[in-house]
Amino acid sequence: AKFTDYNLKSEIYAALAEMHFDKPTPVQEKMIPTILQGRSVVGQSQTGSGKTHAFLIPIFEHLTQASEVQVIITTPSRELAAQIEHAAKQIANQFVPEKQPKIGYYVGGTDKARQVNQLDAGQPQLVIGTPGRILDLSKMGKLDLHTAKTLVIDEADMTLDGGFLPDVDSIAGALPSDLQMMVFSATIPQKLQPFLKKYLNNPVVEEI
Ligand code: AMP
Repeated sequence: AKFTDYNLKSEIYAALAEMHFDKPTPVQEKMIPTILQGRSVVGQSQTGSGKTHAFLIPIFEHLTQASEVQVIITTPSRELAAQIEHAAKQIANQFVPEKQPKIGYYVGGTDKARQVNQLDAGQPQLVIGTPGRILDLSKMGKLDLHTAKTLVIDEADMTLDGGFLPDVDSIAGALPSDLQMMVFSATIPQKLQPFLKKYLNNPVVEEI
């Protein structure tokens, strides 16, 4: 497959060219068309497979100019959240300033008062962070999660191991039931099954 098969926004092609991504990785080839259709997916894949862009590319294709939270990406660690934010910014930077999607980056140990001030001024379209801080800002009435149509749970197995699944469950519970959910995990432990059954109806499961 080629990236041009997907008919993406010109800004996304500009980002792919700048990053020197010549063609989709096998994970991207399998997941991008399915995610673009709006289907929920479970991707069993390792870091290094290109999974971050497998979800970021369709996310940017679907983001609109509406000043509301449209997509939430959770990860169990600050480092992973920072990596995803970096990759997302590379794509966002290709848009002209007035069309640039706003990215909210919320992880533990960062300045909450500043985040609250920024949220009072407007909601981001794309939320990236750790479950605890995202939930915290939501409970404070500052981050409006209920408008989100897409939830990505990256490193779901590590999210479970870290004890963050109840927080992710609370986030998912605040979202509309016709949510597109994407779950990425190196392994799919048995303990994850009740969560997957609760939120994913008829997902496409890819083992890569
Ligand atoms: P990930 O599995 O998402 O952590 O990605 C692993 C690495 O592959 C990152 O450094 C990406 O920038 C890079 N990458 C992702 N997609 C592609 C692609 N289609 N072509 C070349 N490199 C890629």
